[in-house]
Amino acid sequence: MRQHAQAVVIGGGLVGCSILYHLTKMGWTDVVLLERDELTSGSTWHAAANIHGLHDSTNISRIQHYTMKLYKELEKETGQGCGVFQPGSLYLAQTEAREHQLRIQAAKARRYGMSFHEVTRAEAEKLHPLANFEGIRCIMYEPDGGNVDPSGVTMAYAAGARQRGAEIHRFTPVTATEQRPDGTWTVRTPSGDIHAQWVVNAAGLWAREVAAMAGLKLPLIPTEHQYFVTETIPEIAALGRRLPSLADRDGEYYLRQEGQGLLIGAYEKDMKFWAEDGTPQDFGHELFPDDLERIEENMMRAINRVPAIGTAGVKRVINGPMIWSPDSAALFGPVPELKNYFCCCGIIPGFSQSGGLGKLSAEWIVEGEPTLDLFAWDLARFGLWANSAGFIKGRVRDQYSNRFKIHFPNEERMAGRPVRTRPAYEMQKGMGALFGLNFGWEHPLWYAKEGEPKEETYGFVRQNWWKPVGREVRMLRDTAGIIDISNFAKYEVKGPGAEEWLNRLLANRMPTQTGRSCLTPLIGKRGGIAGDFTVTRLGEEEFLIVGSGMAERYHMRFFDAVPLPAGTAFRSLTQTMCGFNVAGPKSRELLQRLTNADLSAASFPFMRSQRITVAGVDVVAIRVSFTGDLGWELHCDEKDQVALYSALLKAGEDFAAGPVGSRALMSLRIEKGYGSWGREYSPEYWPQEVALDRLIKLDKGDFLNRDAYLEIAQKPAREKLSMFRIDAVEADASGGEPIFLPDGTPVGQVSSGAYGYSVGHSLALGYVRADVATGGQKFTIAILGRPHEAELLEKPLFDPDGVRLRS
Ligand SMILES: Cc1cc2nc3c(=O)[nH]c(=O)nc-3n(C[C@H](O)[C@H](O)[C@H](O)COP(=O)(O)OP(=O)(O)OC[C@H]3O[C@@H](n4cnc5c(N)ncnc54)[C@H](O)[C@@H]3O)c2cc1C
Repeated sequence: MRQHAQAVVIGGGLVGCSILYHLTKMGWTDVVLLERDELTSGSTWHAAANIHGLHDSTNISRIQHYTMKLYKELEKETGQGCGVFQPGSLYLAQTEAREHQLRIQAAKARRYGMSFHEVTRAEAEKLHPLANFEGIRCIMYEPDGGNVDPSGVTMAYAAGARQRGAEIHRFTPVTATEQRPDGTWTVRTPSGDIHAQWVVNAAGLWAREVAAMAGLKLPLIPTEHQYFVTETIPEIAALGRRLPSLADRDGEYYLRQEGQGLLIGAYEKDMKFWAEDGTPQDFGHELFPDDLERIEENMMRAINRVPAIGTAGVKRVINGPMIWSPDSAALFGPVPELKNYFCCCGIIPGFSQSGGLGKLSAEWIVEGEPTLDLFAWDLARFGLWANSAGFIKGRVRDQYSNRFKIHFPNEERMAGRPVRTRPAYEMQKGMGALFGLNFGWEHPLWYAKEGEPKEETYGFVRQNWWKPVGREVRMLRDTAGIIDISNFAKYEVKGPGAEEWLNRLLANRMPTQTGRSCLTPLIGKRGGIAGDFTVTRLGEEEFLIVGSGMAERYHMRFFDAVPLPAGTAFRSLTQTMCGFNVAGPKSRELLQRLTNADLSAASFPFMRSQRITVAGVDVVAIRVSFTGDLGWELHCDEKDQVALYSALLKAGEDFAAGPVGSRALMSLRIEKGYGSWGREYSPEYWPQEVALDRLIKLDKGDFLNRDAYLEIAQKPAREKLSMFRIDAVEADASGGEPIFLPDGTPVGQVSSGAYGYSVGHSLALGYVRADVATGGQKFTIAILGRPHEAELLEKPLFDPDGVRLRS
């Protein structure tokens, strides 16, 4: 066994082997995989191994598409069979919402050149003569859908990696991982130690135990999961070809051909956790006792769809463990608090995603950043707050038992909540607030008035919150509104080197005078937008940074990359500071009643800040507003939140001003064309594509990833962030909708959308090919999967010249 390696991958399941393979493909051949048993000894060996290409998330669709294509290439490359069957998949919609979902996916497939199209019932009956399509409203066909052989695929990855020089050691459990002072790792096994630059935790069912060796806790928990295989079904044997799989997700089961019979699996409501306190070390190629009763309801629905199941005998039942994260997406990426420690854990549809996961892991490890924005998978989307047992269990129970439920835009799943609340939470609840989850925090989305629904409805068309949110937008634009912005991330940098450190971290020049603020991008490893912040100089040696709340842990990777000068300290204030944005044409008058500070335009202009007292509460007041209107952000100590909020609301009464939630904020910022991190701004896009290049100051000297920016700065924009007015009446865009030229050529996609209540139009922000990104250009945007006419707007419809903002 090697004693040194560039990377040691722990775990020889599907995912670990794919990472190893992709590391070697990117030129890292001095790599080792350690497996405590045989390869495939976790969830991998007993999986149903279905593969699908389409997903609600565009980037996950890309990853799945890559993976499906890879298996056949792997077979050719390694000579190891992957048992790939691609007889296609039929997706069935029983409800209107499911039909919307499938049509949206079909439109996205056209944009990305993937094969997924509607078929008639007659065509579906020909493809799957055993299925009864009664009650189905819409059927889509994915010709590449199918399944693979779980162990064949794993062995093929292993063979490909070995061919390029990787070592794989079976029956070699990792017993300890110890970090050395230089950030490299000692990986201990009974057969000796390896000194590794990187450790990769791909230990699947044992990811928690392997993480604990490095002092890390991962929010994961295993569940049981069952499928069964029938005896030979004579009609199938007589068919002489393979049946497509059936994705009847409203029926909450999956179904495909296996041998001459059928394989049926279910995510049942009556789910069962396993090994809550830790996966046993001696668990290997074992299964749990059959428990078909638990999945009986799902099975009855499958039998209604394919009656032949009802008469076929059961040949074998598989009841095995799989391990889940709180939102069922992977826990992926380098751990921000541990240098050179990478996780790729909690993967549910491993066979649809293994190739993409391996490729992006290798890109991240070797090149410092993946080529696709993967925030939805990045383990940094969860903070330490997510390790509460109640949160993990509540969320996983919900995820498992609603595995096939549609994820609607703006959907808020309530399971496992609340985990993090602010002092004003109960007060806001009493005011009718409906809450969203943002990096664990409960924050108000909108406020229901007396007689209005206290629960949200969900769907792809406009829902019951649409009108109340409109009321809040109009109130703010007409008079003023008070928005709780405590969920924004806040950081303090203090000390003699504060300015220097910020200038070396962020791309804009930091304000040189106390009381000034600047907007600034953070540049990623490939020159894209890794973050956008407002930095305020509070004193000679003191700065306040305000950024995206959900990206707090994500951004720590960047903050830690620039060493702090001696005597200078950085700390997060998100936990201890709360905030309100008071905005709208009457906001000055409203606030002026509560403070002696002079808020006039001359004394307190746009982009300036002051420490002032509002209603007896000390606040940092910054003259900025994400609403695009006249307004102030007020940041106060958490203990003063209720007092400040009460005073603001009381003063607002005289102006008919009141609370406004973050869903209205979404509409307000889109009316103004403001981008938001995670939607418009991501490392995938270059500054010149999102018009943030004007905020990059190359003449100030070096800053983080300046060289990467210089590499791409001279290149023309590939796509441009643009604003659209859409002729939509039933539903608004929500993100991900493809954009076409009127002749049907795909040219881009929406990043966010909302109804612009104060301008009276359905609006969207999105990216289109740079050569067609001109004002007045007509497009069609596929909302609900159907083309809607749209026009690119040169300027925002609200306050195009920024007069209100600067008033
Ligand atoms: C019944 C069932 C059906 C499924 N059906 C599908 C499906 O149809 N489609 C699909 O895409 N997915 C399916 N899955 C999910 C799929 O199996 C997983 O996504 C996939 O196997 C995860 O692979 P992994 O490599 O992450 O983890 P694992 O397969 O759990 O591998 C982890 C490996 O790490 C090793 N290890 C652990 N600790 C150590 C240590 N200390 N030192 C060295 N090695 C260690 C283990 O021995 C194991 O081999 C199914 C799962 C189940 C249970």
